[in-house]
Parts: sequence; C-alpha cells; structure tokens
Amino acid sequence: MRLSYSSLGTYQTCPLKYKFKEIDHLKEPKSKEAVFGTLIHSTLKFLHEPSLIPPTLEDALQHFSTGWNDAVYDDPNEERAAFSAGIDMIRRYREKNDPKDTTIIALESPFQIEIADASGRTHVIKGIIDRIDKTSDGYEIIDYKTGRKMPSQADVDANLQLSVYAKAFLARYPKEAQRLEHLTVSLYFLKHGVKLSSSRTAKDLQRVDDLFLETIEEIEAGHFEPRVNPLCDWCGFQKMCPMWKHKFRDRLPGTNEEKERAVREYLDSKRTIELEKLRLMKLQETIFEYMDAEDVERLFGPSGILERTRTKKYDYDPEKLRNFLEPLGKWGDVLAINQTLVKKTLATLPSHTRKVVESEAKIPGKETVTLRVKKTLAEKEESL
Ligand code: SF4
Repeated sequence: MRLSYSSLGTYQTCPLKYKFKEIDHLKEPKSKEAVFGTLIHSTLKFLHEPSLIPPTLEDALQHFSTGWNDAVYDDPNEERAAFSAGIDMIRRYREKNDPKDTTIIALESPFQIEIADASGRTHVIKGIIDRIDKTSDGYEIIDYKTGRKMPSQADVDANLQLSVYAKAFLARYPKEAQRLEHLTVSLYFLKHGVKLSSSRTAKDLQRVDDLFLETIEEIEAGHFEPRVNPLCDWCGFQKMCPMWKHKFRDRLPGTNEEKERAVREYLDSKRTIELEKLRLMKLQETIFEYMDAEDVERLFGPSGILERTRTKKYDYDPEKLRNFLEPLGKWGDVLAINQTLVKKTLATLPSHTRKVVESEAKIPGKETVTLRVKKTLAEKEESL
C-alpha cells in the first residue's frame, strides 16, 4: 500500500474523511487556512533558495503579496487580518533566520520510506520535509506550522510527524543512525516565532512502523467510521457526513416536520429534566439541613413522606476474601473483568502482543445505542 504522511494523519483524525478523499477521490475545496499555509511555506522556500544574490526581506514580502489570494476570504476584515499576520510571520522569521547564517541542505524535500509488515508485504509512506539544516555537530529537521495553537514540549517529544521525518532522513543518511543524539527535530511555530525542538531514539522510530502498520490494517479492513473532532469545522465534507449533514437539512430529501418536532421535543425535555435534577439536588440540601436542625429523619408533606436513609459501602480485602471463597469453589463466581482496567492495561502492551490478545480473547459484545445531547458551539461559548 502507498500512503502519504498527511493521509495517515487524515485517517487518524477521521477515517471517514480519509475514505472520502483517498478512496472515493472526492475533491475537497482548500480551506483558507490551507491556502494561507501553502503561501507562507512557498515564501520561506523562496527566501532560502540558493541564488547569487540572496533574497532580501522586501523580496520575500513581495513574493507573499504577489501570491496572496483574497478570493478565499468572505469577510474583508478577516482577509486584512490574515494578510498582516502573514507579513508579521515572514518579518519575524527573517529576523531569526538570515539565509547567510543557516546551512540548509534540503528545502521542501520529498521522501519515501518502506515498511514491511509481518507477512513480508512492503508499504510505502511518502511525504515532504520542509527544511533540513546542517548544524555544527549534526542535522536539524524543521517543520513549519502556521496554526495558532502551540503544543507542549511533551507533545513535541511524542510528535509522530517528526518521528516519520527522522526515519526518512535516516533512510537518506543511514550513517546518522549511529549518531541519533546529534539529530534535532523541530516544529517552528511561525505565528509565535518559536521553535520547539526534540530528539528521537531508535525505539521511537520503531513505533512509527507499528503505528503505520496498525493504520494500514484498519484501512484494509475497511474501517471508515466518522470521528467528530475539532477540525470538523474546516472539513469540506460536512454536507455528506452523517455526523453533520442534518445541519444542512434544507438539502436533505424527505425531511418531515413530525420527525423534526420529535428532535425539538427530545432536546427540550432533556433540558427540562436536567434543570429539574439540579433543582431537586438543591432542595435535598435544604431538606437535609432542616432534618439536622430539627433532629428528625422523616418529614411529612401533603403528598407523601420524606425519609432519610443511610447506606454504607464496603470493600473487601481481595486476598482474605479469596482465602474464604476458594476452598468453597466460589472464587470464580465473584471475579468480574473490569473493562476499563483491561483497556488501560492493553494500551501499555507492545502493539504486537496487544493485537494477539485482542484477536484471541476479544468477544463481540452486545451493541447498545444511546442518544446523547451535545452542546452546540454557540452554547459552549456562552457557558465559558
Ligand atoms: S465532518 Fe468531521 S466527522 Fe465528518 S468527515 Fe469531516 S472530519 Fe470526519
């Protein structure tokens, strides 16, 4: 199988989106963020491309302005803000990255790495590395980020993209595998002008293979469930995605008023029940205070009696309990598997062992269907 790093990322974020793009070959309109990111990347490449007279900051800004596409923005204020954010990014970047102070050996460099699965089939992963520098004692791989959000150092240390790039680099420079401590991998956050760096061990790089093979297995097994995630707001397939298309219900055939009424009534009833629950909790507090003050355990109202009951919970010492129940042949009856603990424990196992356990010991269970009420974006913002 041939897979690009970005399509792997798409599958991990949302398998259905991967299917729309890579299997059904549906075209997704490029978001304004993607158009912006592409232009910034091309400007930074322009800034570093070898030439007799290195481009100045003004040349780079000119390159950016010439490539600017205002048509992707609906709102002129947003367009102006994005343009000046781009100018700021380039200025800030140029201040810290004078082409004459850097030794860049590769820019927007394409790669392909091969990974073999347990049956000996070879899979190819391809991608593009933004920049590779020669440093005083080794190399540095840099990936530019134009988004707002900065991850923690721990996230950078675990970043899969950087591990894939490190692997691709080592495929090109195999001797460097003996000097991994001299290989730096960095994410450069252009909006903040901050570079977060990390390194990789041989074990980290082995994990890349496991993760790719797991993903390839999922894809080949045809698992393409939708996965709602923070990037859904920018997904070009919302109108055909089962998790979102009802939002555009004017386009849905056969939507009828009676069913729409059921949706509204369900949401309203759920909200009323939640409010009632809150009210009951507050009333209970007041009633307990009243019982304490009056030293009573029962209260008499016109429609019934309220009685306070106390239940104490106990735990059993597992070893002592076992000593009593095992000789009676009852120990097996009280052992129940804690599914949450099983999941947590399996997640700590090496991928191969986990797969063996899952394929041998996992039994398909009963499917339960629930209807959950989620907050809309407007409600979430209101509650902040
Ligand atoms: S809208 Fe969200 S859940 Fe639907 S396909 Fe796109 S990313 Fe997946």
